[in-house]
Amino acid sequence: MAELRFQDFRFEEKEGNIRFHFLKLYYFDVPKDDFKKLGKVGVSETALIFQEAAQEAAERQFYRVLQRGFERLTNKLTGNPTRYLHRNSGIPLIGALAFGIVDKGSDMIEVKPLTSCNADCVFCSVDEGPSSKKKLDLVVEKDYLVQEVRKLLDFKQHPIHVYINPHGEPTLYADLVELVRDMSKTPFVASIHLITNLAVVSKGMADKLIEAGLTNFNVSFHAVNPEQAKKLFHMPGYSVKKVMETLEHVRGRVKIILAPVYLQGVNEQDIEDIIKYAKQQGFEVFIQNFLENRRGRNPVKELPFNKFSDFLKGLEKKHGLPLLKLGKVESTKEFPKPFKEGDTIEAEIWSEGRYRGEWYGKAKSRVLLIKGDYKKGKQKVKIARDAHNVFYAV
Ligand code: SF4
Repeated sequence: MAELRFQDFRFEEKEGNIRFHFLKLYYFDVPKDDFKKLGKVGVSETALIFQEAAQEAAERQFYRVLQRGFERLTNKLTGNPTRYLHRNSGIPLIGALAFGIVDKGSDMIEVKPLTSCNADCVFCSVDEGPSSKKKLDLVVEKDYLVQEVRKLLDFKQHPIHVYINPHGEPTLYADLVELVRDMSKTPFVASIHLITNLAVVSKGMADKLIEAGLTNFNVSFHAVNPEQAKKLFHMPGYSVKKVMETLEHVRGRVKIILAPVYLQGVNEQDIEDIIKYAKQQGFEVFIQNFLENRRGRNPVKELPFNKFSDFLKGLEKKHGLPLLKLGKVESTKEFPKPFKEGDTIEAEIWSEGRYRGEWYGKAKSRVLLIKGDYKKGKQKVKIARDAHNVFYAV
């Protein structure tokens, strides 16, 4: 008899197929017939059981099936095809803004384990959530991400603040607690910040994150009024009351920063209510100005910087809470750039991009976002932008 169990998989029988649930958020279906030569397959939530097959033969067939299955990996939230980037995928984690690692040469780096969001904010600058026009999602293997962060920090040789800040919601990542734990043990990591809407974080999960080494919750928090909060998140199940209960549960054990987005003419009163709530609880507030973005959702006009600054000064004076202080950012070494703007290079195109007319390629340990009409395979491309090891090509 052979029994196959895997930590990252759950199984379900579905209309003649076996549904492989992967990292909670993703799935692919495999026809039961793909296991025909192993005899009858028994499916339980945590295992596939083959009464008539040897363990080794079952494992071999499983890995064959897996390879084809991952080509059909689908995000349950968005319905998008999803690329799984793992240690043997050959896909670098540096070079794209949407996933992997972004280092802009300071003492903070951004770590992006996945794309997609459970909220659908009316002002989302990165166009995530159910109404997103993006056609592709990506998810990175936890151990691969940690390995690449280690390499970068070993190169930088400087204390670094790690911001887990994907294009989407990081608490959807099934391995988040382990990611925080591994990162907290990584030399040179000075603090770990989670940029989250906290919508699906229970008190128990928040405890686990803190115990794993999380130092800061940076919470997207746009109104204290439940109806207004739900409206701004555009998320029917969103409960600001639940978020507040979670925050109050962890108060004093982790730094909490409430980070509302200010939309002129929409949430002035909400911002004031947030400041009052933060003062009462001892939380910090970091108000962000809504900025128009070509591909984001733009429900209002953005406020010019000087007017926004005046708005913050007025609130500071009225409430006596610092709202304008800027953290000190130190410069650190960056990985050398293997190519520069204007270079023509050979890149291997490995996937369509997140929008139509965009592709992901790779060359010299970097990912490139390439605009144009391509097919997978090797292509000559021209580097159009090369800021901080983030590459765009045409
Ligand atoms: S929580 Fe953030 S990523 Fe998600 S929809 Fe709102 S703004 Fe976008």
